[in-house]
Amino acid sequence: MTSEGKKLWGFDPDLIRRHDRAGPRYTSYPASPFFTAAVGEADLVRVLGARAPTPISLYVHLPFCPQLCWYCGCHKVISRDPKRIDRYLDDVERELDLQRAAAGQALSVAQLHWGGGSPSALDDDQATRLMRAIADRFPIAEGAECSIEGDPRQLSPARLAVYREIGFNRLSLGLQDFDRKVQETVNRVQDDEATLELIAAGRELGFGSISVDLIYGLPFQTTETFDRTLARVLEARPDRLSIFNYAHLPALFPAQKLLPEEHMPGPETKLAIFGNALERLAGSGYAHIGMDHFARREDELARAAETGGLRRNFQGYSTHAGLDMLAFGVSAIAQIGAVYLQNTKSLLEYRESLAAGRLPIERGLVLDEDDRLRGRVIMDLMCTNHVDLREVERDFGIDFAEHFAPEMEELQGFVPDDLIEIHADRIEVLPAGRFLVRNVARVFDARLRRSREQRFSRVI
Ligand code: SF4
Repeated sequence: MTSEGKKLWGFDPDLIRRHDRAGPRYTSYPASPFFTAAVGEADLVRVLGARAPTPISLYVHLPFCPQLCWYCGCHKVISRDPKRIDRYLDDVERELDLQRAAAGQALSVAQLHWGGGSPSALDDDQATRLMRAIADRFPIAEGAECSIEGDPRQLSPARLAVYREIGFNRLSLGLQDFDRKVQETVNRVQDDEATLELIAAGRELGFGSISVDLIYGLPFQTTETFDRTLARVLEARPDRLSIFNYAHLPALFPAQKLLPEEHMPGPETKLAIFGNALERLAGSGYAHIGMDHFARREDELARAAETGGLRRNFQGYSTHAGLDMLAFGVSAIAQIGAVYLQNTKSLLEYRESLAAGRLPIERGLVLDEDDRLRGRVIMDLMCTNHVDLREVERDFGIDFAEHFAPEMEELQGFVPDDLIEIHADRIEVLPAGRFLVRNVARVFDARLRRSREQRFSRVI
């Protein structure tokens, strides 16, 4: 890595080494481990019924995957049985019915996302059936952003054409790594040529934005192997790229024990992999959106990052600010007003609950005033890299410096390294701090302070 490259976008391995601590990625505040069983179906019915008829975001979790990737930290069900997917879709339809009844009106969908698992495990008929089932209860608005996650091993240009036909206009592909030895070690072998052809086909079919996920930190990855993967991926010019740090948490995800720890790159190599990736991305016309997310400079996410229009939800960075999210399927998380609600992760409980006419909500959280205030500050930091102190004072009726006196003192620890600047009227995250922004945000996380931190990953 060149010394100039080392500081690209403010990236400084030394600062990451010094300031990195485990913490949530703040797709919500409070983070989902703080949800409790005190919140359930009655809360969803109450908030959904009382909601104004404004557009919504709608998420469906499709957990099925034909084969387990050993690094996986997602909520998935390994199965190759299409009948299981049919039965699951029956259940999702019941859930759509129940929430439609609770809403009392056909709320229109401005943003739709299918995640997993592998939504691409659904065949063409199953995907068409699910889209129709959603649109029948919650009409998809003209111009809605409709995205689907896909596993290139299950996709073909013909399948992508079906996705376009049924209304998808955004595509997200899991690539992870093209190196054959890495692929074999993590039990996910996929062909790079076919994957790049898919991206080209997606573009020709008119997907407005194609996004690609890579992972670094897997066994046998080196700066050279990862650079080769990235160079190959960039030949296809995806609109967005996420380069995730592999979180090795075998206590939470037992399959990760199958990975040879002795061959995993250490923190120094991981920092070098990431630093090299930044150089390549900057030289290829990509902008840094936040943390591990990048987009071509002309992409709407890059433009939103520049104009302060970026938001975070359970799917990551988004341009749709402030929409309530309805959620369907096992483990799915909804946010309606000041209430978070998460479905059961058990397929059996999900099925039984819906068969009995009950919504399968297992836990959640009703935000109190302190959560809302801290959530606002954390999301401002995560998405816009600054907090307007006067605005927060106005919105929450507080004196910021007085209310957050201990937090402001703790933030001083980031100032000498130019990670942030503290002014009388604002906190500004500087370029070097953007890679560590969740460590800055966690200063305001009162719930984390009171808990154990081991369940969360680190930046590197
Ligand atoms: S395809 Fe994705 S969700 Fe399924 S096992 Fe692999 S990493 Fe996990």
